[in-house]
Amino acid sequence: MKFTVVGSGAMGLRYGVLLQDAGNEVDFVDPWEPHVEKMRAQGGVYVSRDHKDRHLVPVNVFYPEEYTGNPDCYIFFTKQMQLENVLKRCAHFFKPHQYALTCMNGMGHVEKLLNYFAPEKLVAGTALVATVLNGPGDVDFIGARGAGSMNLANYTEKPDEFTHQLVAQLEKAQFNPNLTTNFRGTLLAKVVFNSVVNTLCTMFEMTMGEYAAYEGADEMSRQLIDEAYDACERDGIKMINTRQEELDSVNYVSKVANPLHYPSMYQDMHNYRPTEVDYINGYLVKLGRKHGYEAKTHAFLTHEVHLAELQKQKELKQQQVSSVA
Ligand code: NAD
Repeated sequence: MKFTVVGSGAMGLRYGVLLQDAGNEVDFVDPWEPHVEKMRAQGGVYVSRDHKDRHLVPVNVFYPEEYTGNPDCYIFFTKQMQLENVLKRCAHFFKPHQYALTCMNGMGHVEKLLNYFAPEKLVAGTALVATVLNGPGDVDFIGARGAGSMNLANYTEKPDEFTHQLVAQLEKAQFNPNLTTNFRGTLLAKVVFNSVVNTLCTMFEMTMGEYAAYEGADEMSRQLIDEAYDACERDGIKMINTRQEELDSVNYVSKVANPLHYPSMYQDMHNYRPTEVDYINGYLVKLGRKHGYEAKTHAFLTHEVHLAELQKQKELKQQQVSSVA
């Protein structure tokens, strides 16, 4: 199968490199100049696994404006706030027969992708793995090969022949895909999970294990899960987990699967980049408001994360001033 990854940062590289290893033809498109230039200069991307075995993997990498390939399927892995601009820059190479797969966190991407791809060509899901971009041209796949999993669903909720072929390639690349026929329920399960763990670990600069070990964690998680479910259910979303199962999943992933992990939102904050909070907690707030329901804790947390982003920008400016002085 021919894939083109659009947004070749941490996750785009993980999906693209492992699909390439599994025998697929993969191109990489990315707008971040230092990253593209570095990969071209060093002849590929340096890939590590759990900080070890750093080695160079050759990749074909392009800027959006110069790309002319014709894949069967795109894989979109930008940050939510980057997607609209990237789609505009890539629109010249999209063709009606091509599929789009994405496992970005948060919500907001689906509507944007539907401006360029027909509903029957859109497959979206959630990726239950962690990956870190150490810097331009250097990525670290966290977790052993074959660990972690993903969920995906067709926007139409009717898997076609291509979807089954896609799932087979994802299986071969050891992403452990689970195909469902509940589109919004599948995506929202991760949004709710992230609205608890990503946001709180980011705010308090702690690992998932540190959060879950706090004696008040269950009470905090339950409050956020309840508000999130109250908003989702008002919008007619059929959640795939019960509220208790969602809490159990927060605890299992935080205490057992990834206790030492800082979620990706923390990494953005730490690197002075904007976070996806508006597409996670902020999305749940908007969803509730559509139905006259106020997800108060999520609204408060969204503001808190924005305040922390402002502080980080202040810190960055101070650092820049002192490095010039
Ligand atoms: P990323 O930040 O590594 O890459 C996304 C884009 O940002 C790429 O185009 C990349 O080149 C660019 N970029 C990276 N650093 C930059 C910088 N300093 N300045 C300018 N541009 C920069 O993002 P990601 O972690 O691959 O995440 C993509 C999507 O997948 C997001 O929705 C994220 O929430 C989700 N996700 C991430 C993980 C993870 O562990 N990283 C896991 C599951 C889902």
